[in-house]
Amino acid sequence: MPRADKAQALLRGLPGVDALVGRAAAHPDLRSMPRQRVTESAREVLAAERRRVLEGASSVAEASTLAERVVDRLTRSGVFSLDRVINATGVVLHTNLGRALLSPLAQERLRAAAAGYTNLEMDIGQKERGSRYAHVEGLLQRLTGAPASLVVNNCASAVLLALESLARGKEVIVSRGELIEIGGEFRIPDIMRRSGAVLREVGTTNRTHLKDYAQAIGPETGLILKVHTSNYRVVGFTAAVSSRELSQLGRERGIPVMEDLGSGCLVDLRRYGFPYEPTVPEVVASGVDIVSFSGDKLLGGPQAGIVVGGAELVERLARNPLNRALRIDKFTVAALEATLYAYEAGEALETIPTLRMLTEPPAAIRRRARGLLRRLSAEVQSRLGAVLVDVTSQVGGGALPTVELPTVALALGSAERRPEDLDDRLRAARPPVLGRLLDDRLLLDFRTVLPADVPALAAILASL
Ligand SMILES: *Cc1c(COP(=O)(O)O)cnc(C)c1O
Repeated sequence: MPRADKAQALLRGLPGVDALVGRAAAHPDLRSMPRQRVTESAREVLAAERRRVLEGASSVAEASTLAERVVDRLTRSGVFSLDRVINATGVVLHTNLGRALLSPLAQERLRAAAAGYTNLEMDIGQKERGSRYAHVEGLLQRLTGAPASLVVNNCASAVLLALESLARGKEVIVSRGELIEIGGEFRIPDIMRRSGAVLREVGTTNRTHLKDYAQAIGPETGLILKVHTSNYRVVGFTAAVSSRELSQLGRERGIPVMEDLGSGCLVDLRRYGFPYEPTVPEVVASGVDIVSFSGDKLLGGPQAGIVVGGAELVERLARNPLNRALRIDKFTVAALEATLYAYEAGEALETIPTLRMLTEPPAAIRRRARGLLRRLSAEVQSRLGAVLVDVTSQVGGGALPTVELPTVALALGSAERRPEDLDDRLRAARPPVLGRLLDDRLLLDFRTVLPADVPALAAILASL
């Protein structure tokens, strides 16, 4: 038989799409898989098999084998696109992995807000319309010392809203040492242009003095902006003006002063060996008129941009129509209230995962890593070349960039298991496991591996 005829004969042996879909959809793992996805996957599997035949294969796969391929494809990709991963990078605030994890209380409050109606914008007793921001106003006041607050989508929008509300068409004085890029296209000069404010740079990259600000103030000045260099450090021959000096200057000249803290922390982490970072209450106490910070960086809550400051200025931000476009939803309110409550109740360090992970002693991290090793047989351990090593991890999320936290990692890689291949295999696992490649080893840093991840991680490693 000529080759083309033979191929045609083989192709006639393939099941039709409907038959293949019927077989695959009967598999228990695909019970909740929408039919359309099964059909799409069946078409792809059939097309691949047809290509194989036309390229000269001498037989076609059985219908049951093809159905298995469909099931395989679909279970590997899962039903949902946004899904859990095991973070073994050691980076506690990993923006690409969703930044802060929420406390059990915040999870509980989120669930309650999702399942039923809430008093989001209703003052029930007064029979009046209420404000969604009221649910966190008192907490923010008590925790930061600032009389007023507003919460928007994220800190980038807080900065945009503040510039637009306070300095549109006017000059904003910023030190050249603080013209930062945060990542994801957020650059202070660009955001300034978008807000309609005019950037007035003062000082130099490494040194800016009070007189630089003072000399730049004129009739066009709308705002003095201090930006916390949260994701980098200028070291060596440097000078920057303190929040206190700037706010004094602003008061003398009648110009509002704003500080964008980025990763605003409510507690002083120096007790746990971290370098000094100004906390939100300290900056408020220094006299700065308006302070912005993120909800999901060191605070350890949901994505949000929190603005605290004087009542009159915050009111101008709240009344800006742009605020309506940057408005937070009930889930942010619920999770943020629970997160702030933990600080007020004095249980933040125990219950907020970000703070717990950042302050966890290496001995405790080592215990978790040992717990995993115990779940692996000696044979698996030696095949993977698994050993515990002392390394360091980063905070991440553009916070505390110079900090290297001592941590414990499981190092993998051997002559028969190249670390790059192990990395590929772990990324393809369900749930995917993300480590980091360093010096010819794959490191799984246990600072960010949750206790609940350990059994799943052990099963994945054993199956490699
Ligand atoms: C991270 C950061 C921002 C942006 O915060 P998001 O909440 O991610 O929008 C703004 N300013 C500074 C100084 C930051 O560090």
